[in-house]
Amino acid sequence: MQEALEKWNCDLVEEILPEIYAIMLQISEQFLTELYAADTPQEQIQALRIIKNNQVHMANLAMYAGRYVNGVAAIHTELLKTTVLKEWYALNPEKFQNKTNGITQRRWLGVCNPELTALFTELSGSQHFLTELDDLRALSHYADDAGIMERFHAIKQEKKRQLAEYILQKEGIRIDPKTCFDIQIKRLHEYKRQLLNAFSILWIYYGIKDGTIKDFTPTTFLFGAKSAPGYRRAKAIIKYINEIAKLIDNDPDIRSLMQVHFVTNYNVSYAEKLVAACDISEQISTAGTEASGTGNMKMMLNGAVTLGTLDGANIEIVDAAGKENNYIFGATVEDLEKLKDYCSRAVMAKNPMTARVVRSLIDGTVSDGGTGEFRELYFALLDGASWHQPDHYYLLLDLPDYVETKLRALSDYRDTAAFSQKQWRNACAAGPFSSDRTIRQYAEECWHISPV
Ligand SMILES: *Cc1c(COP(=O)(O)O)cnc(C)c1O
Repeated sequence: MQEALEKWNCDLVEEILPEIYAIMLQISEQFLTELYAADTPQEQIQALRIIKNNQVHMANLAMYAGRYVNGVAAIHTELLKTTVLKEWYALNPEKFQNKTNGITQRRWLGVCNPELTALFTELSGSQHFLTELDDLRALSHYADDAGIMERFHAIKQEKKRQLAEYILQKEGIRIDPKTCFDIQIKRLHEYKRQLLNAFSILWIYYGIKDGTIKDFTPTTFLFGAKSAPGYRRAKAIIKYINEIAKLIDNDPDIRSLMQVHFVTNYNVSYAEKLVAACDISEQISTAGTEASGTGNMKMMLNGAVTLGTLDGANIEIVDAAGKENNYIFGATVEDLEKLKDYCSRAVMAKNPMTARVVRSLIDGTVSDGGTGEFRELYFALLDGASWHQPDHYYLLLDLPDYVETKLRALSDYRDTAAFSQKQWRNACAAGPFSSDRTIRQYAEECWHISPV
């Protein structure tokens, strides 16, 4: 994300941090001396400069001063080399490493899911997996043991019941643990595409109503997110999702089949409960935008299938757990690179259901209370804005494939035995996504230290 590459106005830095600014200047000058001494071409110097146009470029400062730089998933490291840091890769290829993110199984299994922890302990004969998550690999074959799969399914149901109880007590909303729990929890951002998820839900709603979608698996769609305080569009998206929740709730034909709930005050404590109760983990960022993701790892470890794009750590998750145990859809980074002259209006004009769903932002299906914020979302998708192309995260491009893949996942969910096997195989393949592995790699490959 552009906003993550911090640039600070020199006058501001000098006013607030005069001593630090003096050091920054010296580092910048030393670097320039090295570049000129090596006869570096002008345009390359321009890209690498720490101070230019009266701004301090923090990423360039970090690249010069740092010994190593890492992407947080394999695809992200490759993208750094070929896009945002390509001039640096040409200058210092030896600085580039990959350290795929991880999560701690002590919190994201041991603390949040003692029931599943107990089953893993019983089957493996110890709690060694709490410090060596790769141990779970050896339990994968229990997918073929019907008795164990029944117990695993019962644990998932218990975690769903506990979450339902928590939501009822905290928010006064009743959700049904017998339905499939489809969960998207993460910061609210356009690139994470909560709006794409909302569109898919509305698509399914219309499909059930007009009879084109039959035998729909009863599903609870759960969202959790906070918006940054000044991020107007993110707030509009939260409002839109809540309006869709209301629309469905007020429809007696549909409300036994679908429910949407956006939890209030989403935080880590809430995440612990949601992660353990998840059947389908929504990881649907535009390919190339999510550096790694860690929510994807948390839900995998607790026995969820991933419904996602080939982005961030999803790629490594699917490699480890098997494509056949997950649901991958949408354009890849390579597809998007090849895509020239993307026109969201043309995409919409050629797909009537896409048009119907997107038009809900302006046709009175849902109301923003007259603020115009839904209209702003609509025109961001179809006409763009002063700072971006129309539909710069390709929602309309990926929507039909996403809906099809989601419907396939939800249909597969009905075969409890087969779906539990997929979920189990995901949990048992989560070993590589322990932060113990990440930290071990840092220790060995960056810090060059070993345990005493
Ligand atoms: C893990 C976690 C995240 C990160 O989730 P992603 O899906 O990787 O973006 C954000 N917020 C909370 C509360 C979390 O626990």
